[in-house]
Amino acid sequence: MASRTYPGRCLVSKNDTTKRKAKTEIIKALKADRAEEKKPQSWLVLFTGEGMPEYWIYLLVDRKATLKDIDKKLRAVWLECCGHLSSFKIAGRDYESFPEGAFLDVVESMETGVDGIFCDGLTGEHIYDYGSTTYLDFKVISKLPYRTKKGYDVEIVARNKMPEALCSVCGKEATIICLECLYEGSDSYLFCDECYEEHECDEGMQLPVVNSPRCGVCAYEGGLDDDMC
Ligand SMILES: [Zn+2]
Ligand SMILES: [Zn+2]
Ligand SMILES: [Zn+2]
Repeated sequence: MASRTYPGRCLVSKNDTTKRKAKTEIIKALKADRAEEKKPQSWLVLFTGEGMPEYWIYLLVDRKATLKDIDKKLRAVWLECCGHLSSFKIAGRDYESFPEGAFLDVVESMETGVDGIFCDGLTGEHIYDYGSTTYLDFKVISKLPYRTKKGYDVEIVARNKMPEALCSVCGKEATIICLECLYEGSDSYLFCDECYEEHECDEGMQLPVVNSPRCGVCAYEGGLDDDMC
C-alpha cells in the first residue's frame, strides 16, 4: 500500500518531495527560478483524487486564466478518455463545460475567470463524466508573485509519483488492469506483461496501469508525462 507521506516531485526544481512538503518546495523553487513581481500573478491550487489522497497535483494558475483552462489541464494530465462533460462545484454554484445543456439556474459557464472566484483557502470539487465519474477535491493554497512558465496559463508545478501497483500473480510491478476481473469484483485484476500473456480473459478488456485517479475507469489510458506538464 502507498505510504502516508504520498511521495511526489516538484517539476520546477526537479526535487523529490511529498504532498505535505510540496508547498514549501514549490515556493522555494519558484523563488530561485523566476522573477518576483510586485503584485500577485498566479494562484497555487492543490487537486486531489476524492478518496484517493495518493493522487495529487499542485497547479500554478495565471490570474487571467479561466476555470475552463484548469479543466483542460486536468483532462490532459488525469481525466480525458472520450470527451465526457465536466463541471466545477464551488460555493454552491456549478460551472459546467457545456452550460447551454443545463437546466438549473445556478449553472454557469467554465469560461469564468479564476480571479473573480478564488481566494485563499477556498475549497471545491471537480467532476469529470456524469456516468463513470471521477471526483477531484481542490483547495486554493495562496496567491503568488510568480508567473506561470512561458506559453502556459496553467502549469503543473508538482505531482505525485506513480503509486505502487503489483501484479497479483508474481508481485512484480503491474502494467495491465484486466477489466473483466475488475468488474467481476475479483481482487486479482492487476498483471505484469508476462503474467497477462498467460491470463485467460478477453484481451479487449484491458487498460494500462497509469498515474491517475481515473486509472481503470471507462477507456482511460493515461495523460501528460512530467516534461509536458
Ligand atoms: Zn470515457
Ligand atoms: Zn506478473
Ligand atoms: Zn481477467
